[in-house]
Amino acid sequence: MTYFLIHNGTLIDGTGKPPVSDAAILIRDDFIEYVGPEDSLKLPGVKIRKVDADGGFLLPGFIDSHLHLMANGFHMEDTMYNPLSLFFYKAVENMRRTVNAGVTTVRDGGLADYGVKMAVEKGLIIGPRMQISVTPLSITGGHFDFWLKSGFDMKISYPGFPDSICDGVEDVRRKVREIMRAGADVIKVMATGGVISANDSPEHPQFSKEEFKVIIDEARTRGLKIMAHAHGAEGIKNAVEAGIDSVEHGTYLDREAIDMILERGVYLIPTLITQKYNRIKAESGGLAEYSVKDALRIESIHRKNMEKAYQAGVTMAMGTDCGVIEHGVNLQELGLLCEIGMTPMEAITSATKVAAECLGWQDKIGTLEAGKLADIVISKTDPLSDINSLGNPDNIRMVLKEGKIIKDFL
Ligand SMILES: [Zn+2]
Repeated sequence: MTYFLIHNGTLIDGTGKPPVSDAAILIRDDFIEYVGPEDSLKLPGVKIRKVDADGGFLLPGFIDSHLHLMANGFHMEDTMYNPLSLFFYKAVENMRRTVNAGVTTVRDGGLADYGVKMAVEKGLIIGPRMQISVTPLSITGGHFDFWLKSGFDMKISYPGFPDSICDGVEDVRRKVREIMRAGADVIKVMATGGVISANDSPEHPQFSKEEFKVIIDEARTRGLKIMAHAHGAEGIKNAVEAGIDSVEHGTYLDREAIDMILERGVYLIPTLITQKYNRIKAESGGLAEYSVKDALRIESIHRKNMEKAYQAGVTMAMGTDCGVIEHGVNLQELGLLCEIGMTPMEAITSATKVAAECLGWQDKIGTLEAGKLADIVISKTDPLSDINSLGNPDNIRMVLKEGKIIKDFL
C-alpha cells in the first residue's frame, strides 16, 4: 500500500462546485482516499510521499471525448508512402503530447486498434486511458471510404483492423459484429459526409434509418454506446431518432434537431478547435483542394449553431478531433467553448464530469472525489480567471494517472 499526498493547492474538483483553497488530495495506490481542505485531513500513521503543489490548481485528469491518436493530419498520401509500422511509432509521440496537455482519458474516434490500447494498459508506453471505436462504419463513397476518383483506393485494413465499408442492413449487422470482435468499446458511425473527405459533403446524410436501427441494436447486444459523426441536419436527425448516444461535430443542427437531442438526452461533442484549425489551414493552402471549400464555409455556421445548442441547454462533452489537427492542443477547446457561451467552470466540467458521463465512466473518473481513480492535473495558472492558459501544456505542471506521475514539471 502506498500513500501519496498532494497539498498546498486550490481544488477545482470537476463537479462544478466553487473552488476550495488550501486543499489536499490523499491518494492510496490508484485511488483518491481524501479530497478537500488540508486542515480537515487526518493523515494515516504511515510513510507518505508528499508533493507541494506550490499554490497551483488541482483538477481532474481531462477527458477528450473525440480524437484520433493514430492520425497525424489524415493526409491520404501518407498511407501510400508510410509503412504501416510508422503510424504506430508516431502514435507514441501523439500519446505523449496528449498526456502532457493534461488529458488522461480519451475516446478514440477511429484508427486506434486493440493493441494500441493494450500497449498503454500494460505500461509499455505512456498514454491516456482509452475507449476505442477501432474503425468507423461508413457507406460506400462515405466519409470513411478512401477510394479516390482516380480509382485508387487508399484504404488500410490489416489483422485487428477490419474494413468498415458496409451497405444495407445485413452488411451493416456483420460489420458491427466484426468491429466488436476487434475490441471496440464504442461503435462509431459516419452519419453524414465530412469536411476533409474526398467524395462527399458534410451536408449529405449517409446510412438509412433502417441501417441505423440495425447498427444500434447490434451495439446494444454488448451494451456499447454509439457515437455518430454528423454535420448535416438530416443525418443528425436520422442518427438521433434511431437512438445514437452522441452527435459529433453537429455543424448544421437546426431547431428540430436540437429539440430531438434534448428530448433523448443525447450528448453533443462540438470539436470547435478542428473547425478553426481547418479554416486556418485552408486559408494558408495547407489543405487538399477537395477540402478547402468545405473548410472555409463551415466554421462560422458551426459556431453559430453551437451557440444556439448551448443556449437551448444541450449537454456538451469536450472533444477535439485532434489527429485531424495536431496533438497536444486539446485543452484549447475549453477557451472556444467559452466563446460560444460557457463559463470557464462549465467548460472545465464539460471536459471532466460531463465527458465521463458521456463515456459511461462516471463511476471511476471525471471528478476528484474519494473512491475515484486518482487522475489529477496540477495547473500553474488559475483556469477560472484565464481559461486559455490551460491550452498551453507549459502551464500543466504535473499529471497523474491512477496515482502515478506521468508528467512532472514541478
Ligand atoms: Zn473525428
